[in-house]
Amino acid sequence: MRRNEGELIKMRKAGKVVAEMHEATRAVIRPGITTMDLNRAAADVIERRGATSNFLGYHGFPAVICTSPNDMIVHGIPSDDVVLHEGDIISVDCGAIIEGYHGDAAYTAGVGEISKAAARLLEVTERSLFAGIEQLTKGNRLHEVGRAVQKVAEAAGFGVVREYVGHGIGTAMHEAPQVPNYWPGTPGPMLKTGMVFAIEPMVNIGSPETMTLEDGWAVVTADGSLSAHFEHTIAVTEHGPEIFTLP
Ligand code: MG
Ligand code: MG
Repeated sequence: MRRNEGELIKMRKAGKVVAEMHEATRAVIRPGITTMDLNRAAADVIERRGATSNFLGYHGFPAVICTSPNDMIVHGIPSDDVVLHEGDIISVDCGAIIEGYHGDAAYTAGVGEISKAAARLLEVTERSLFAGIEQLTKGNRLHEVGRAVQKVAEAAGFGVVREYVGHGIGTAMHEAPQVPNYWPGTPGPMLKTGMVFAIEPMVNIGSPETMTLEDGWAVVTADGSLSAHFEHTIAVTEHGPEIFTLP
């Protein structure tokens, strides 16, 4: 799906709200806070900007962000009972709707001082995202994104999650086509200006295998290793990739 300039303007606005949710949640991360504190900070931004949440109520999801600590990969439900401790890592996935158009972006941050291994996981996962984003140029093929992400993550010895992938985004949060974070064996559709994608590598220190917890939402690494998640919403433009969700 290609978006016209009027639609891209709205998506830029939605992206800005999501970027602001990142800044607001990052600002409260420290030992002793709960993941519900992060949800409150994000909800404040949504309200202040007159946006609506695309997460709240999505298949019954009960919050405006996903908060996934340590070996949790994605889809953690914020809770007053989940306290962050020194040395933890926390993945925060945020989304917002402005005038019917969606933004979606995630980051993983350290809580206080983190181990060298955890810091390396965060650095490599974010770098893999940007390697993927670089592939979003007119005339290139979509699935070069996954090839680039996978190359960075696996060169570091990490596992790339297969079950959850990036996606098109626009008037719905999840639109076709899917964007795997690995080489799927075919080059995929040709990229054209006005296409918008959410690219979101999930990278594990250990094996790429995943497991869903009893709440039916939280996805964790099968081997208990740490996992990181970085995501941006990006348009293909005449001048290359334009990231809508940069702070
Ligand atoms: Mg997301
Ligand atoms: Mg997404």
